[in-house]
Amino acid sequence: MTHMSHALRTPLNSIIGFSRVMLKGIDGPLTELQQADLTSIYNSGQHLLNLINSILDMSKIEAGNMELVFDEVLLHDIFHSVVATARGLLKDRPIELRTEIPDDLPTVWADGQRIRQVLINLVSNAAKFTERGYVALKVETDPEFVTIRVIDTGIGIEPEAQRRLFIPFQQVDASTSRRAGGTGLGLVICRSFVEMHGGRIWVESEPGKGSTFSFTLPIHRTAAESQGKEQVTD
Ligand code: ADP
Repeated sequence: MTHMSHALRTPLNSIIGFSRVMLKGIDGPLTELQQADLTSIYNSGQHLLNLINSILDMSKIEAGNMELVFDEVLLHDIFHSVVATARGLLKDRPIELRTEIPDDLPTVWADGQRIRQVLINLVSNAAKFTERGYVALKVETDPEFVTIRVIDTGIGIEPEAQRRLFIPFQQVDASTSRRAGGTGLGLVICRSFVEMHGGRIWVESEPGKGSTFSFTLPIHRTAAESQGKEQVTD
C-alpha cells in the first residue's frame, strides 16, 4: 500500500507542481487561455489528490492499519489554520465566517494532523453546500470533553440521509455528489479518526435550513491510555 500510494502521488504531485510553476509565470508569460487551462489542470490535480488520499485512508482504516501519532496538541494552532482555509473557501462569496472559540482551551492528547483533517473536511462540506448565510466554527469545553462544531446555513440533509452519512460508500444523493465531486468517504474517515481519539461525531440538520456537525475530544487522556493497537484498530 505504501508503494502504491507513492506510485499514485508522485506523478500527481508533478502535475500539480508544474502547473503551479507555470501559473506563477516562472516559465514565461501566459495568455489568458493558457492561464485558464492551467488553472483547470491544477484544480483537477488537487481534486484527484484529495480523492486518492481519501481512498488510501479508507483502505488503511478498513485493513486496521491506520496508525495515529498521538501527542499533546494545542487546539488553537489547529483552529487558526482551519479558519485560514475556511476564509479562502468562502472568499468572494456571500457567506460570513463566524468563530466562537474560548481563549483558554485545554490541551488534548491527539493526532493533530488527523484532527485538522477532520475539521477541514467538515468546513469544506459546509462551504460546498452553503450558498448564503454563514459558516461557523464553535468550540465548547466541559470538564471531560472539548466539543467542536461546524455550523452552516446551507441546503441541509434529509433525516433519512443523515443516518447514512457516516457509513462507507453511502452518498446522500448521487446527483449532488457528482456535482460536488466527492467520494462519500470524507465523513466515514472523520468518524473513524474521532472514534480512535475516544470521541464521537454526529450531525443535526434541517433541509433548507442548514447543518451542524459536532465532534468531541476527551480532555483527560494520558499517553498510556491512548497508545497501543487496540485503540488504533477499533
Ligand atoms: P464527499 O467527499 O462525497 O463530500 P462526505 O462524507 O464528506 O463525502 O459527505 C457525504 C455527503 O453528505 C455529501 O456528498 C453531501 O451530500 C452530504 N453533506 C455533507 N456535509 C454536508 C453539509 N454541511 N450540508 C449538506 N450536505 C452535506
